[in-house]
Amino acid sequence: MERPNRDIYVKSDSFEALAGKMPGGTEALERLAALGARLDGMNLPDERRDVLAKACRALTGGALNGEPEFALKRHIVEEVRRLSDDELPRYLFYRYRYDVYPTTRQLDAFPPCVQIEPTSICNYRCVFCYQTDRSFTQGRQGHMGMMDLEMFKNVVDQIEGEVEAVTLASRGEPLMCRNIKEMLEYLRGKFLGLKMNTNAWFLTEELAHTILQTGLNTLVFSVDAAEPELYARLRVNGKLERVLENIKMFSEVRRKHYPDSRLITRTSGVHFSDEQDFDKMQEFWSEFVDQVAFVDYNPWENAYETAPRGIEAPCSDLWRRMFIWWDGRANPCDVDYKSELAVGNAGELDVSSLWRSDAYEDLRRRHIAGKRGALTPCAGCAVV
Ligand code: SF4
Repeated sequence: MERPNRDIYVKSDSFEALAGKMPGGTEALERLAALGARLDGMNLPDERRDVLAKACRALTGGALNGEPEFALKRHIVEEVRRLSDDELPRYLFYRYRYDVYPTTRQLDAFPPCVQIEPTSICNYRCVFCYQTDRSFTQGRQGHMGMMDLEMFKNVVDQIEGEVEAVTLASRGEPLMCRNIKEMLEYLRGKFLGLKMNTNAWFLTEELAHTILQTGLNTLVFSVDAAEPELYARLRVNGKLERVLENIKMFSEVRRKHYPDSRLITRTSGVHFSDEQDFDKMQEFWSEFVDQVAFVDYNPWENAYETAPRGIEAPCSDLWRRMFIWWDGRANPCDVDYKSELAVGNAGELDVSSLWRSDAYEDLRRRHIAGKRGALTPCAGCAVV
């Protein structure tokens, strides 16, 4: 499950001072300003040049009247720091569209982010997760399965060069997919914003090497506690001891064999109970990962029964990301884990056509018209 992280915003009227407070902030600003200055001499399609020019202006405090807000944030500084000057235009083109298009409700040929689901199967039954819904997990319901390699390569081939933010994960545990090693190898060097979420249960030394050689940008370990008893209660079927050993092993493999790796590792917890202590999590996990984060709980496990919330604002995900599930079904989100809102199938239509399909456009129109309350599960969903 993909969820937003807490972040620092740099207001445009004092961006230099605030950027100076972030490690690497001033250097990032200088490099972005230099990119803005050399855009005219670069061989780029006009549309890409326009987007990059707007992005550079906004980030360096020179946005023109009426141009959308696009602020420097801590994770942008962090990502810029890890990229070469040659990679910056690709990165910025994606980051601007990812952050801004959901607010301006713009679309182009591809989604800013694609989430590919290697498998919908999971070995855990976390108390806040839809894996506890038997109408989802029972085999005869048809929701469980693993993506075949041919489908995976077909999707990757279409989005390479068009999309930079690609996440491996959605409803299931990706390391349970029998093709995961081949999938990771196929992704090698193709995307700047490649991410995977895992519970780390099946993480082996061999997979650690594969992950580190793939050029993954972010590896998120889903953990929700720092105490074995609480972990086992929240992450049903899991054991903190085993996961900790695997994460330690990963950190050691990286330290020993890939000292120049640009990978960011993060433990992420769902803030579900008052028993979870963020300070303890921070203290416990920060020895083994680069970042520790908590995200807010959204009732994923019963999205279809949640009472309507009366929200009228459109859902930003409709302009930000598309999910391709193991069987090729294209879905606007994984809150809708039973695919009521599916917009087509990647086995029948290409990714770009799915993104601009009538079904997707109709969904967007209904959200813009303030009618999400008539849609299940949008009516009870908190995402805006
Ligand atoms: S509002 Fe609808 S489309 Fe958006 S995340 Fe929620 S269920 Fe999905």
